[in-house]
Amino acid sequence: MKELRYLDDVSSLVLNEDKCIGCGLCTEVCPHSVFELQDRKAQLVDFNACMECGACVTNCPTDAIAVNPGVG
Ligand code: SF4
Ligand code: SF4
Repeated sequence: MKELRYLDDVSSLVLNEDKCIGCGLCTEVCPHSVFELQDRKAQLVDFNACMECGACVTNCPTDAIAVNPGVG
């Protein structure tokens, strides 16, 4: 999403690629298309679009994602 932006470089979102199993759930639930799957690993392709809603953290089966909702 490029139209509605949040502040740059303030999101607490962290992705641990070592834990990612490439299930793709984060790409499906994120309302702002922050993630894409590349070579069976999630990648942060639009970090600054993250609104810290927590949906990706809730749905990731391997705890590969962390965020502090509402901090940024
Ligand atoms: S916290 Fe919400 S907006 Fe941010 S990456 Fe996860 S699902 Fe997307
Ligand atoms: S939900 Fe978690 S395990 Fe699945 S692709 Fe995203 S980061 Fe990887």
